[in-house]
Amino acid sequence: MAQCEVCGNDYDKSFEVVVAGQSHTFDSFECAIHALAPQCDHCGCRVVGHGVEADGKYFCCAHCAAEAGVTGIADRV
Ligand SMILES: [Zn+2]
Ligand SMILES: [Zn+2]
Repeated sequence: MAQCEVCGNDYDKSFEVVVAGQSHTFDSFECAIHALAPQCDHCGCRVVGHGVEADGKYFCCAHCAAEAGVTGIADRV
């Protein structure tokens, strides 16, 4: 049993996520996403799917990347 590091909930079905060698404990995917998912550089939403990475920035979709001036990216569906 462990405490969620985002909301502090003590939940018996909490789980651990290891990112870059550091382990994080969460009670839900919502909290894990809140803490770990990158933010779209254009619209600010959490990038939960594959997303798009360009110039060291993350975007939720090719449309946002294009809006932010990144060219040559198409959604890989
Ligand atoms: Zn939580
Ligand atoms: Zn976006």
